[in-house]
Amino acid sequence: MIEVFPGIRWLKSPINMEQSDLEYINTYLVEDKKGFLMVDSGWNTDESFGMLHNKLIKSGHSFQSIKQIVITHIHPDHYGMAGRIKELSGATLAMHDIEKDYIDPRYVHMEQLLHQTDRMLVANGVPEDEMEALRDATLGLENYIVPTPPDRILHNGDIITAGIFKFRVIWTPGHSSGHICLYEPDKKVLLCGDHILPKITPNISVNPQSIENPLGRYLQSLEEIKKLDIDITLPGHDEPFHHLKMRINEIIHHHQMRNQEILDRIAVNAWSAYSIAKEITWGSNGGSWDALPAFHKRMAIFETLAHLEMMAAESRVFKQGKKGVIQYKQK
Ligand SMILES: [Zn+2]
Ligand SMILES: [Zn+2]
Repeated sequence: MIEVFPGIRWLKSPINMEQSDLEYINTYLVEDKKGFLMVDSGWNTDESFGMLHNKLIKSGHSFQSIKQIVITHIHPDHYGMAGRIKELSGATLAMHDIEKDYIDPRYVHMEQLLHQTDRMLVANGVPEDEMEALRDATLGLENYIVPTPPDRILHNGDIITAGIFKFRVIWTPGHSSGHICLYEPDKKVLLCGDHILPKITPNISVNPQSIENPLGRYLQSLEEIKKLDIDITLPGHDEPFHHLKMRINEIIHHHQMRNQEILDRIAVNAWSAYSIAKEITWGSNGGSWDALPAFHKRMAIFETLAHLEMMAAESRVFKQGKKGVIQYKQK
């Protein structure tokens, strides 16, 4: 465990996904005489569990040394093992109000969500023969989650106390509807989950569990964070960093460029999100849509949709239905 800030320890937990651009998920332990505050948990795999167990033992602790668990959002890498740790430690589990309602439909009773995803893909132009693979692309992830309801439900502005730290909960919708960051104004520390990552642009999607206009809300949340006085940012992936405002500006710029790239495609004719997504260069595919794994294709379509919905909300594009498919055109 690395002490990344006096009183905060940093652990890297392995990512259990072949197709991930990320190497590891960060877990933070904040010191408190009564027991650690743990922020984000890692996947529920034997590898992640064993690693955490060893690191706790090596530093003279055990699972019982954890008293509070806060998760920034319920994606498997952040939430997966939280229930298992809670069970062993007796710690309280806290998450944002919106996020708690997504646990059951996402990881326990998934039929409805699959159906909604299916309809959303088809409505946005995915051909029937490709739909199934895209719809089912995240099936199996539920095996790496211990679905556990929170003991404490968080809202924007709530305070989480651990030792000498008083973290303010900041609701930052976008990457996930109930995503939160933890901000310590006196220490000028931000724990930001997947809201801002130093190397990759967090995925912002329209999907059945997204808030209205997620990209618009996300960019607003970035502006909110930009106003804060922050020295060190502790992200959910990659290394802690100091150039937060610069990084936020880069992410905003990326989204502006992508908006333009999309607008260029739909300047003359109306296109579906699927047909636009196929034409865009997505970092990892070297230019070929067919080479993308189904999971990435789905993310690309839903990300494109997030851009289109934001520009529709801003009256930069208009929407029309054609044979059951939604198409967008520049105004
Ligand atoms: Zn995430
Ligand atoms: Zn993540």
